[in-house]
Amino acid sequence: MHELAITQSVVEAVTDRLPGATVTCVRLEIGAMSGVVADSVRFCFELVTDGTALEGARLEISEPPGRCRCRACGAEFEPDGPVGFCPCGSADAEVLTGRELTITSVEVA
Ligand SMILES: [Zn+2]
Repeated sequence: MHELAITQSVVEAVTDRLPGATVTCVRLEIGAMSGVVADSVRFCFELVTDGTALEGARLEISEPPGRCRCRACGAEFEPDGPVGFCPCGSADAEVLTGRELTITSVEVA
């Protein structure tokens, strides 16, 4: 369950940068191609923030769609899962966007 480790590193990044602050909201961007399951991150967030400055903070996750370019035919397409299959049938695609896992903003009290 690597979402737990990811969520822990998000919480650590926030507490490192905002020592002593009471965080009320954390916004994340998790790309559709990142392989990270947003619902799992939501679940882990409650566990990981327990007893920290982020306890009780809201977690808002946006999931921008991925974008791939097919190496076989050169088409760009939006994959509907973590593996990009081009409409031409090729799975040999370069991921252009969608692998991001970013803290976009944090609100403090
Ligand atoms: Zn193709």
